[in-house]
Amino acid sequence: MNGRLPLRPNLAAMRGYHSPQVPAAVRLNTNESPFPPPETWRDELATELSRIEFNRYPDRQARRLREALAELHGVGADEVFCANGSNEALQCLLLAYGGPGRRAALFEPTYALHGHICRLTGTLTVGAPRDEGFRVDPEVAEGLVGREEPEVTFLCSPNNPTGAADPPALVERLLVLPTGLLVVDEAYGQFARQSALDQRTCPGGERLVVVRTFSKTWAMAAARLGYLVADPEVVAGCEAATLPYHLSAVTQVAGLLALGHREEMERRVALIAEERGRLSAALGALPVTAWPSDANFILFRPADRPGDEVWKELVTRSVLIRDCSSWAGLEGCLRVTVGTP
Ligand SMILES: *Cc1c(COP(=O)(O)O)cnc(C)c1O
Repeated sequence: MNGRLPLRPNLAAMRGYHSPQVPAAVRLNTNESPFPPPETWRDELATELSRIEFNRYPDRQARRLREALAELHGVGADEVFCANGSNEALQCLLLAYGGPGRRAALFEPTYALHGHICRLTGTLTVGAPRDEGFRVDPEVAEGLVGREEPEVTFLCSPNNPTGAADPPALVERLLVLPTGLLVVDEAYGQFARQSALDQRTCPGGERLVVVRTFSKTWAMAAARLGYLVADPEVVAGCEAATLPYHLSAVTQVAGLLALGHREEMERRVALIAEERGRLSAALGALPVTAWPSDANFILFRPADRPGDEVWKELVTRSVLIRDCSSWAGLEGCLRVTVGTP
């Protein structure tokens, strides 16, 4: 339409977030689980699907799913908000607490969707760089938050695409600053030793929002289910910003049944963590710089060849990884998901 239709200018200027979907036999580009969910979950889901009253709207509160998630984390059901993927949970959060005239703080390089959802919701972003090891320097973080007083501050722990989890001390320091919400995106939380869920009872804990997803460790990227754990007031804020009946009965039951297979999930996570060790040791023997990872992926930079060249050559061998080599602060870098042995 040659731009003659009145698309919002900030969207027209924006390029979508896409991982190239190149056909490949070995797909290690989007950090999914290489293992499917258990066969028994499939059977249970088939049975439950046959019982859904499809002519009726689903439970608007997603009560059973939220109660099960609340039990998993030892919180109240009124402290859990579910959405179609954690990205939608973040979008609801920003619709409720960000928006025009408001600001969100980011530490870059980090998950590109945080900045993207800010732009979609008209939220301004203010950023500070990570240190050379891609860690958030607590002094830099305090400086940024103190100066800008953002309504929302994002951490990503473990950080995508760089891999390291944030220490609890960083979360505790940012929680006592008297400004806005502190969002910790824990999409890879089960791979790490620490979780910000343990900081909810710290001073300022009512400002903490922990975001999780079924897309990675639960091996359910196709189901589109994510959630956040936060103060009941924040959950009510997200509910005010979401559309009615946003979570389908299918999604609700898929998530609820998955929670009955926690042990299998933990076994998958343990297997992948073991494989991560093998992969990082093997990378150590190659002419690359690789960064330590608390997640199911590893960021590395080939020492003697441009990253995009290595990426293309892998594609010709039917291996698809993520080319981050043109992203700000990640010059020459590639990210590989830990797959099966
Ligand atoms: C993969 C990922 C997500 C998952 O998003 P969904 O919408 O739940 O699929 C969220 N945050 C980060 C940092 C991720 O890497």
